[in-house]
Amino acid sequence: MRNQDVQDYGESLIFRIQQENRWNGGFFVPKILLRIRLNNSIMGRMRRPVFLILVILSGLNIFAWSIVHDASNSDSLEVIFFDVGQGDAIFIQTPHQGLGGGHQILIDGGPDSAVLEKLGREMPFWDRTIDLIVLTHPEHDHIAGLLEVLKRYEVKNILWTGVVRDTAEFREWEKLTAEEEAEIIIAKSLLRIDLNNSSFSNSYIDVLYPFEDLSGQEIKKTNNTSLVAKLVCGEKSFLLTGDIEKSVEKELLESGADIDSDVLKVAHHGSKTSSVEEFVEKVSPEIAVISAGKQNAFGHPHPETLETLSKYGINVLRTDELGDVKILCDSRSLKLR
Ligand SMILES: [Zn+2]
Repeated sequence: MRNQDVQDYGESLIFRIQQENRWNGGFFVPKILLRIRLNNSIMGRMRRPVFLILVILSGLNIFAWSIVHDASNSDSLEVIFFDVGQGDAIFIQTPHQGLGGGHQILIDGGPDSAVLEKLGREMPFWDRTIDLIVLTHPEHDHIAGLLEVLKRYEVKNILWTGVVRDTAEFREWEKLTAEEEAEIIIAKSLLRIDLNNSSFSNSYIDVLYPFEDLSGQEIKKTNNTSLVAKLVCGEKSFLLTGDIEKSVEKELLESGADIDSDVLKVAHHGSKTSSVEEFVEKVSPEIAVISAGKQNAFGHPHPETLETLSKYGINVLRTDELGDVKILCDSRSLKLR
């Protein structure tokens, strides 16, 4: 982490995501193309004017798409809970105006490469840069899709807890993150990721858990090391809980962390090992999102969890029933899409 990006604001550390410059190399050139040497024989056979026309047409095409994309996304922050089957993958696009950018964030990647198709639908085809990826914890249904993303996108920042597992997927994560020229940020409470930009203020992600730096610790079952974060969008907020279980929910309650939120990503896919009643009551969300696979082998979400959520009159949205769940936040209100 570069020193100039982090400032100690009294109690919390603030990390500011650098604004993506849309007109740089990472924006135009798909990562895979960077690795392809131009084939001289093809270039040689193609006459220069034809080649130039192709280049101009491609440029115009990209320009037209950039206008279409920017016109459709301008003044709301979007949070999409991707339907990636049994797992979590949450995409955040911050507002942007004109060609000014905005931030793209992916929290977990789900259990396989399904996330790539989802990203392809949400991001313009020429944009191969993701500003921030977050790994809540290195279990298969969260890490596997991120490995695919790291192979195909330029990732600028990586936020994770640093816990170590003895699995092939974890070793691949270590290899790919070492190769990626990204800022690595180790998450613990009191870290704030600042998402403000010229067109949108008072938006940030606060890390609430883990309370301590866990980097280098080898842990077999990492659910209870999950990074818990609160995404704040003006007056509205989202609590993102990874796969924490009841014991961590209780720790968060006891710590006095500000967990009160408008949207709750229900922990651990709605398993009955999570969502203790006092926790749900304190978060007091208007909407609860459950990310689970259709007819998954774990029986998620558990009827007990659904009962707790219904007891508090919370609107439950399930990816196994609805597909992708998209919530727009204009800083004062939330809209479902
Ligand atoms: Zn999980």
